[in-house]
Amino acid sequence: MARSGLAAAVKLKQLGAIPFLSEIKPINELNIDAPFLKNYEFESGEHTEKILDSDLIIVSPGVPINIPTLEKAFDKGIPVWSELELGYQIVKNFKSKIIAVTGSNGKSTTATLIYNILKKAGKTAILAGNIGQAFTSFPIEKDLYDFIVLEVSSFQLDTIFEFKPDISIVLNITPDHLNRYNNFDNYIKSKSRIFINQTENELSILNYDDSICRNFANGFEVKKEFFSVNKLINPNIFVNEDQLIFHFPARLGSAKPRQARLGSRCIGRQEHLHIKISFQDLPIIGLHNVSNISASAIACYHCGLNSNEISDGILSFSGLEHRLEPVASIKGINFINDSKATNSASVKTALQSFDAPINLIMGGSNKNENFSNLKPFIKENVRNLILFGETKDILYNTFSNVVKTYIVEDLKKATEKALTVADKGDYVLLSPGCASYDMFKNFEARGRKFKEIVLALQK
Ligand code: ADP
Repeated sequence: MARSGLAAAVKLKQLGAIPFLSEIKPINELNIDAPFLKNYEFESGEHTEKILDSDLIIVSPGVPINIPTLEKAFDKGIPVWSELELGYQIVKNFKSKIIAVTGSNGKSTTATLIYNILKKAGKTAILAGNIGQAFTSFPIEKDLYDFIVLEVSSFQLDTIFEFKPDISIVLNITPDHLNRYNNFDNYIKSKSRIFINQTENELSILNYDDSICRNFANGFEVKKEFFSVNKLINPNIFVNEDQLIFHFPARLGSAKPRQARLGSRCIGRQEHLHIKISFQDLPIIGLHNVSNISASAIACYHCGLNSNEISDGILSFSGLEHRLEPVASIKGINFINDSKATNSASVKTALQSFDAPINLIMGGSNKNENFSNLKPFIKENVRNLILFGETKDILYNTFSNVVKTYIVEDLKKATEKALTVADKGDYVLLSPGCASYDMFKNFEARGRKFKEIVLALQK
C-alpha cells in the first residue's frame, strides 16, 4: 500500500476490477487518508492467504518475490505482475511509444532528460516509474500520450510478463541490491529482462564503455545501438576532445510495420542531424553525464526529433536536484550538492567530474561498505576531507593517510569547515557516499539542509 500499489488499486477499481490491498506494515505507520481507505477492502500488519483468492496479483517493487504468499500464488498459477506490467497492459495497443531506462546509476537523470527534450519539442509525454509519479497514476487508459518515459528498476522487471518498450536503455551495470539478489549474476539476469519481449522491430541503446552492458543484449532479438565516451564505436554519436558530436543521417520511415507506426510521428522524411556541443556548454557536468546525454540523444533521434529539438532540449535541461547540483559560489569557492551519492561508486563519479581541487564532505549511516577503492581518486582530486556522521571514524581510518582529514559534529560544522579550508577556485562537494538515515529523513532532506546552510553562509 505504497505509491505504486495505491495507484494500481485506484486504476483497477476505475477499470471495473475489485481491488484488495495487503500491507505488511501496520496501517498507522502509513500515511494514507482515512476517506480513501473507506473505498477499499484491505488488510495490514501481514499478508494473509486471502491474497490467494485473487485473479491477478500486482506486487510492489519493494516486496521480495520469494515471500511464502507469493510462492503459493506462483504454485497456484495466479499471475503476479509489477505495476509496470499493469500499466503496459493498459497502453500496449495505443499510439504511445514507450522508452524504458534502466541501469545501476543515472536512470533518473537520463529519463528526466529524455522527457525534457520531448516536452520542449512540443510532444505529449509522461515521466513515470521509479521517479516521480507511478505509471498507473496517469490517465493512461485515455491514449493521450505520444511518449511514455519510464524509469525502470530491476525489482519491477522481476515481475514483467509482456512488457515490451519500443526503446530500452541500459546505462551501466555495477553491483547493487545484493541483499535482494544474493549474487551479482542474479542482478544482471534481472536487468536483462528489459529485453525479453523486445524483437528486431524494437531498439536497445547500450553503453559500450560498460563491459557488462557491451555484451548484454547478445542472444536477444532486439536491435542494438551503442554509445561510448571513449571510442568511436558509433559513427552517429561520439566524443571528440571536449565536444559531443551527433551526426545522424537523414532517413525515410522504415517499411517494417512497428517502425512504420513509430515513423508516422516523424512527419515524413527525417532530416540529416548534426549537432556539436562543447562540454563547457553542457548543462550537467562530468563524463558520466556525457554518457547519459548520448543515450538520451540517440533515443530522441529514434523518436523522430530533429537537430534543433534535441540540442534545445539538452541545453535547456537544468539537471536534477541533489545530483552534482551547483548551489552557490562564496568567495570564488563553488558549493555542489551531491546528496544522492549514497555509495562509493557515485562518489567516484563525482570526484572525476571537476577540473579544480575538491574539498569533500563525506559521512552518514553505515552500510558496511568498504571505501578503500576511493583512495586513489581522493588522493588525486581532494584537497581536504571533512567527515561527519556514523561512518566518520571508518572513513578517517581509510583516508587520513592520503589526504588532510577533519572530523566534525554535523553537516553545518562540516560546511563551515570546508569554507575555511578551501582555496579560491576550489569546489566544496557534499558527496557523502553513505545513506542519510543517521541524521536525516532521507537524502533529499540532507541535500536541502546543505543548500540552506550554504545560502546562509553566502548571506
Ligand atoms: P539513479 O536513478 O539510477 O539512482 P541518478 O540519476 O539519480 O541515478 O544518479 C544517482 C547518482 O549516480 C548521482 O550521484 C549521480 O551523480 C551518479 N550518476 C548519474 N549518472 C551516472 C552514470 N551514468 N554513471 C555513474 N554514476 C552516475
